[in-house]
Amino acid sequence: MEVDDHMRTGVPNIYASGDVVDKRIPKLTPAAEFESNYIAGQLLGKSDAPIVYPAIPNLVFTLPRIAQVGITVDEAKKDPESYRIIEVPFGQINEWVNNRELEASHTYIIDREGHLAGAALYSSEAGMMLDALTLVINCRLTWADLEKMIFTFPTQTYSLISGFIPLLSPPGSGSSASIYTQMSDSL
Ligand SMILES: Cc1cc2nc3c(=O)[nH]c(=O)nc-3n(C[C@H](O)[C@H](O)[C@H](O)COP(=O)(O)OP(=O)(O)OC[C@H]3O[C@@H](n4cnc5c(N)ncnc54)[C@H](O)[C@@H]3O)c2cc1C
Repeated sequence: MEVDDHMRTGVPNIYASGDVVDKRIPKLTPAAEFESNYIAGQLLGKSDAPIVYPAIPNLVFTLPRIAQVGITVDEAKKDPESYRIIEVPFGQINEWVNNRELEASHTYIIDREGHLAGAALYSSEAGMMLDALTLVINCRLTWADLEKMIFTFPTQTYSLISGFIPLLSPPGSGSSASIYTQMSDSL
C-alpha cells in the first residue's frame, strides 16, 4: 500500500503502518511499532512533521548471529571520501570476554566527522552489541560523549565500546591510532 511521508494512504483519514506499506526500510516489528506511534502522534496533534526513520538494526538469528545497522559496507566502499571502514577481529582481541568465539568479527564505518555511521557484526552476541551501536549512531555520540561514561566491566559491550571509542576521536588528536586501526590496516 502506498503512503505519503505522513503515512497517509490515498483515502482521506486512512493511515497505514507496518508490513502492508510499500517501503524500502526493513519490514520488522519495531519498525511497524515506530510507524504506529508516529501515526498516533499525528492523530493526537503532537506533531505535523513528516516521518523520519532512525538507523534501523537488522539481525539474522543464525548461530552465530549476523547483524547490521546504518551505512552498509557496500555503501561505504562506494564512497571512500566520506567513510572509513575498520575491520576488527573482535573474537581474537577479546578472546576471554567473548567466550573464546575466535571467529567473531566486527566492521565499523566511520564518517568524515568521526561519527559511527554503520556497523556489521558476526558473533553470537551480535544482537546485544548491535543495540549499543544503534544508540551510538542514532544519538550521534562522539568520542568526547563516550569518554565521560562508565560501563560495566568485564562485558562484551565494555570491550566493544572501549575498543571503538578511539576510532571516533577527531583526526589529528593522536587517539585514533587504536589497536583496531593498526590491525585493520594490516588485514
Ligand atoms: C517468519 C517470520 C519471522 C519474523 N521474524 C521477525 C523478527 O525476529 N523480528 C522482527 O522484528 N520482525 C520479524 N518478522 C517481521 C514481523 O513479523 C513483521 O514486520 C511484523 O509482524 C509487522 O507487523 P504488522 O502489524 O504490520 O503485520 P502483522 O503482524 O502481519 O499483522 C497483520 C494482521 O492483520 C491480519 N489481517 C490480514 N488481513 C486481514 C483482513 N483482511 N482482515 C482482518 N485482519 C487481517 C493478519 O492476520 C495479522 O494478524 C518476521 C516475519 C516472519 C514472516
